Amino acid sequence: MIMILLPITANAFLLRVGLKNGVSGIVVSATSYFDLIDMHTNQVILTTYGWRNYKIDVENGGLAVEGVGTFQGPIILAPISNAFGKVDNKAYRGKLEISRTNNARIMVVNIIDIEEYLYGVVGSEMSSSFPLEALKAQAIIARTFALAGLKKHQDKGYNLCSTTCCQAYNGALAESLIITTAVDQTQSLVLSYGGNLAKTYYHSCCGGKTAPFIWKGQGEPYLQSKNCPFCNHLRNSSYSWTQRISFYELQKAFGTDKITSISINAQDESGRAKTILICQVSGNTTIDANKFRSTMGYTRVKSTLFTMDNDGQGVVLNGNGYGHGVGLCQWGARGMAEAGYTFKEILGFYYPGVCLQKIAFEKKMRGRQDE
Ligand SMILES: [Zn+2]
Ligand SMILES: [Zn+2]
Repeated sequence: MIMILLPITANAFLLRVGLKNGVSGIVVSATSYFDLIDMHTNQVILTTYGWRNYKIDVENGGLAVEGVGTFQGPIILAPISNAFGKVDNKAYRGKLEISRTNNARIMVVNIIDIEEYLYGVVGSEMSSSFPLEALKAQAIIARTFALAGLKKHQDKGYNLCSTTCCQAYNGALAESLIITTAVDQTQSLVLSYGGNLAKTYYHSCCGGKTAPFIWKGQGEPYLQSKNCPFCNHLRNSSYSWTQRISFYELQKAFGTDKITSISINAQDESGRAKTILICQVSGNTTIDANKFRSTMGYTRVKSTLFTMDNDGQGVVLNGNGYGHGVGLCQWGARGMAEAGYTFKEILGFYYPGVCLQKIAFEKKMRGRQDE
């Protein structure tokens, strides 16, 4: 293992995760005692027990807390001892910051230690029924992915959002003992390449061959297409799938003329469709395969690794895998873990040549929970 200290900024230790942005009102509570603090005056405006819900709305240019008063904000919900704060009945570790946006709406940010954030992410991105070594691999790539994306929503006032745009994060609801164990046993570990955080893309199932990562004509040496003999798992319904789409549906979806046939025009080195040719009565149209997938729905066309057979009225897709196919294959990681491979071997297989290292945070950040 190579140890290099990466130039990660100090405020990386506590993440700001955007939970809501632009809602008209919220309801807060907690699993036990909590304080509400108005950051404008730095005063505790309420100390209460969690079972009661408090509505917060925007009113007269401030944040109106039902039965308490109207405040400039932002308002911090700080649970006392080990309680979890709740927004709209969903529980989160750390603190919750409620603020008013410029257009008189409400934004909620979860201020949370990165390791505690990962408890929620790993449980949201991978099933807790997966083996521990696969979950440990997931924890490391989720940690790396989060740290690499800290500036993603900087303009909005937080680091990451809680959807798959960044990584799915469902708060404390997604936690379980095996998930917290996977995060704890890999604490501070990340993947790096050439002194920088690696691009740790991952997906559900590659269908037998991972996809090459090409961005603006450039690839990453550790994100090449490779055969994956591990995801053809008895319980994996995404390994192979069939989907029929009628020409009529395609005409509506892509606004074309009457379609006479549709076929794959170009493939990448992994066999995934790159472009699709739509032949119509009036002429031909070529569309990007990823566009085809997003238009028809990611759950319907699970990947771009498919064949196309026309049946006169429509097209039958016989496909493999689920997701973009780049980087770690989660079902493959499960297969590897069940075959006895460790998390290091799993990561080495899907990201060959990357280094596993501990990330260093500036110590002074510890304990500064309001940052
Ligand atoms: Zn995002
Ligand atoms: Zn695979």
